Amino acid sequence: MKTLEELTRPNIWALKPYSSARDEYSGKEASVFLDANENPYNAPNNRYPDPLQGDLKRKIAVVKKVLPEQIFLGNGSDEAIDLLFRAFCRPGIDNVVAIEPTYGMYKVCADVNDVEYRNVRLDAEFRFKAGDMLAASDGNTKLMFLCSPNNPTGNNLDRKEILALLEGFGGLVVVDEAYADFSDEPSFLAELEMHPNLVVLQTFSKAWGCAAIRLGMAFASPDVIGILTKIKYPYNINRLTQEEAIRMIGQHYQVKLWVKSLLEERSRMIGEFKKLKCSRHVYPTDANFFLAEVSDAKSIYDYLVDKGIIVRNRTNVTLCHNCLRITIGTRPENDALLEALKQYKD
Ligand SMILES: *Cc1c(COP(=O)(O)O)cnc(C)c1O
Repeated sequence: MKTLEELTRPNIWALKPYSSARDEYSGKEASVFLDANENPYNAPNNRYPDPLQGDLKRKIAVVKKVLPEQIFLGNGSDEAIDLLFRAFCRPGIDNVVAIEPTYGMYKVCADVNDVEYRNVRLDAEFRFKAGDMLAASDGNTKLMFLCSPNNPTGNNLDRKEILALLEGFGGLVVVDEAYADFSDEPSFLAELEMHPNLVVLQTFSKAWGCAAIRLGMAFASPDVIGILTKIKYPYNINRLTQEEAIRMIGQHYQVKLWVKSLLEERSRMIGEFKKLKCSRHVYPTDANFFLAEVSDAKSIYDYLVDKGIIVRNRTNVTLCHNCLRITIGTRPENDALLEALKQYKD
């Protein structure tokens, strides 16, 4: 691996972060706060939230078996993705490499930051090879993006290939585990100690049922986390979100139950979907959705919209011609979809 200083944009490496009132005084003992120009009325929302989210990070650290210093919290994982570009990629000079097809935000963030986005097509079974990613890279490649289970294909990427990439690449390897709670495979969090160039992304938006609170997590070495923390907005996670996330962690068992029932529904749905006349192929999935090739994605999508049922039409995505991405819902929601599709005439 290159040194972190070599990887980081020079202006970011040199940056002295904004120091907020709550950074400069973060002790607990004081009871008179006249430092931040807050309104003394309307507690608790009158006070700026903890900029470093100490309580929440300590709780996440226990659940995820990492150190609080290995956690960055963002306004969705999307914030962490954007900050990785801003911290490490010099606009107009550096580049990143990602698998294709995958989650669309990596490319959007690359474009926003004027960073070249190189993609490496998965094979017909949506597998990738570390060697192909390395071959697409050069001395200015700072980040590689993997998503496992991958969106929109649903499958886990090959663990051995991910490890080979971590060994072979001198920059940061981002493994987006937004759907890892639905998979049997162990998380790459366990690899953080061994691989200082690993960044794992997770989110409260999927299995945790908290898309509305906007809370994403990046896990990496304390040094990488330090850089992301240095460049984030000071109060990027609001108090309501921190409080709700802490409450949800207390309901950890509830998340497990949701996942269990979604996985049961997933196998039932796939079994039923395969029997439909419009179904051509259902791809294996490790996530809370599946990708299905159908007779005519556009016309089925429009037909379902007309019935008030929305799925994701992925027909214009590489390797996904005539494919719909279908999220697993409640049993009645899934039945509504199946019923509608039974009545669909090609
Ligand atoms: C849904 C999703 C996310 C979550 O993004 P948030 O900003 O945390 O809501 C991240 N990565 C992938 C691949 C996703 O599908």
